[in-house]
Amino acid sequence: MKIDLHIHSKNSDGADTVEELIPLIKAAGVDVFALTDHDRTDGWAQASELANELGLTFIPGVEITTEGRVPDSNGDIEPFGIHLLAYLPNPEHPALVKVLEDNRKDRIQRVKDFVSNLQSVYTELSFELVMHIAQKDSTMGRPDIAKALVQLKKFDNVDEVFNSPNSPISKQSPFYVKNYAPDVLEVIKIVRAAGGVPVIAHPLARTSSEDVQPESFPRKHFEDMVAAGLLGLETKHKEVSSDHRDILEAFAAEHNLVTTGSSDYHGLDVKPHNPLGLHVTSIEMLKRILELGTGTKPTLNHEF
Ligand code: AMP
Ligand code: FE
Ligand code: FE
Ligand code: ZN
Repeated sequence: MKIDLHIHSKNSDGADTVEELIPLIKAAGVDVFALTDHDRTDGWAQASELANELGLTFIPGVEITTEGRVPDSNGDIEPFGIHLLAYLPNPEHPALVKVLEDNRKDRIQRVKDFVSNLQSVYTELSFELVMHIAQKDSTMGRPDIAKALVQLKKFDNVDEVFNSPNSPISKQSPFYVKNYAPDVLEVIKIVRAAGGVPVIAHPLARTSSEDVQPESFPRKHFEDMVAAGLLGLETKHKEVSSDHRDILEAFAAEHNLVTTGSSDYHGLDVKPHNPLGLHVTSIEMLKRILELGTGTKPTLNHEF
């Protein structure tokens, strides 16, 4: 049985609408999937319906934008981005609703500011174009800006916009604008209060290879997250190195955390190296998630 618990649709920065996505999941031979769009849960109803039609099991999920605030040896805090997956939370829990709403609102302003910085070089770029390319009301992100630059023929593809040596949208770019994000420790508590299962997405890698890799494992930070209620780590992911995976799996075993493996599919035009089912989660770990997640019901079409 193939279990892939980290998948994006066009509701956030994926390439496929939910309607297009679920048949692709079926065709990839995945039996159990989670839809984990950034900062929103409104694709769940349609995903559940289509899962029933195709005999797939659907686990409701969301990937929440948060940040870690860990003091360095001088006591200074340089926040860094952390994506927190939440499985089976109550999507109507007021504190969770507020976190997701605030994140989405900030992402729109951030893309506006980003585009206005980029206009000094890419004069044809506009916020309207980026909005036009993204699905109406979708959660905005850098991939939407990248798609606009491809459409304007400034780059050949999205991957190149992110990874070219002088990428205009990398963290090192002079045009870069940071996301606002709430403290990961607070969001872990909120996800638990909403009956959800908080799992760190692509730990130590965050969103792409451009992020600074920690020289050593920040054990204290991970212990703080466990104390706040963290229940799992996505240890098998394209952007988690095998060295980090080993360290993370040892830590997870020590703290009785769930470990998952997933593709983080965004459509092959957006992320060509993350096909559906690239990494998978074991049945044993899925069962633990199903036991721990009490905020909403999964759509079960298999017996576990
Ligand atoms: P943002 O959260 O807006 O800063 O953008 C980060 C998003 O870009 C994440 O959801 C990643 O999945 C996506 N991303 C990171 N690297 C790449 C890449 N090389 N190609 C396409 N998408 C990427
Ligand atoms: Fe994404
Ligand atoms: Fe992510
Ligand atoms: Zn993701």
